[in-house]
Amino acid sequence: MKAYSIVAFGEKLQPLELETPKPTGREVVVKVRAAGVCHSDIHIWEGGYDLGHGRKLSLTDRGVTLPRTLGHETVGEVVAMGPDASGVEIGKTYLVYPWIGCGECGVCKDEAENYCTKSRNIGIHLDGGYAEYVRVPDGKYLVDIGDLDPALLAPFACSGVTAYSAINKLGPRIRRAPIVLIGAGGLGLMALAILKAMNSKGAVVVDVSPEKRAAALAAGAVAVIDPAAADANAQITAAVGGAVEGVIDFVGAPATSQLGFDLITKGGALVMVGLYGGVATFPLALIAVKGVAIFGNLVGNLKETQEIVDLVRSGKLAPIQVTRRPLADANDALADLRAGKVVGRAVLCPDH
Ligand SMILES: [Zn+2]
Ligand SMILES: [Zn+2]
Repeated sequence: MKAYSIVAFGEKLQPLELETPKPTGREVVVKVRAAGVCHSDIHIWEGGYDLGHGRKLSLTDRGVTLPRTLGHETVGEVVAMGPDASGVEIGKTYLVYPWIGCGECGVCKDEAENYCTKSRNIGIHLDGGYAEYVRVPDGKYLVDIGDLDPALLAPFACSGVTAYSAINKLGPRIRRAPIVLIGAGGLGLMALAILKAMNSKGAVVVDVSPEKRAAALAAGAVAVIDPAAADANAQITAAVGGAVEGVIDFVGAPATSQLGFDLITKGGALVMVGLYGGVATFPLALIAVKGVAIFGNLVGNLKETQEIVDLVRSGKLAPIQVTRRPLADANDALADLRAGKVVGRAVLCPDH
């Protein structure tokens, strides 16, 4: 089979001819129908993340070996099943849940595999969807998408479930008053769409870019606010109509996290999603006095992925715009994303 793989970090993906995977045990092999090109693919391709203060999170230190095929937003048709595989049918098309753990520790058994310390994520530690076929460790990681378009569903394995899991961390707060979303990029717009599909009061969106604020307003934001305004906090509180109970920071910079922390009221929650980096200095006593919660959010779990696909299947949640490209465009798709030239999501479709 053909695959576009990292053979050296930071160098062009190489088209490789690899042996088509053959499933053993509980494994399932899918023929790739769609593979989303995600921002984090750029970091994986570069070999790590910038942690600020000159520190870098190295994927080599995290056990990532090369060559590795990228692609953690995969939709595929089941073509082969190991002798012990179950729960899926040959010929049916599924979204591949990629955030896989060891399956044996307490975290994994409590349905939080995405926080397992022994990750075997597809597209990072295991070969992913920038290929004609993908090996999936167990049929339970395949989420039935029915007759929906594979290219439209692919982004729900990463950006969709990330936004959904971040919203879930706010619990009943989303039903009492609009929450505040900082950052109206892809994740922010996805969160707006999900809030609309849930029983929520929507969101006030904060972004420095006038274009992104306009996009958020068009996507149904209750109000949009420029954080550079001198009275930004007062404007946000007025738009929320009272105390801010929940904030999701999709940027993750010192200024945005500070804004989020300053906004939340007693019993409120701040969810950190963005990886911009840097350092925060919150007054520690206020965390206790206000009884606030600060959550980090990394992707989401399998159950949340099933729930978000159900929301799409029910017609309540509209998928984001995608651009289909052939698998051979893998390098160009990554380069375009890096250059900020992609609107919505680029999705590699081997049959395109
Ligand atoms: Zn991703
Ligand atoms: Zn585990």
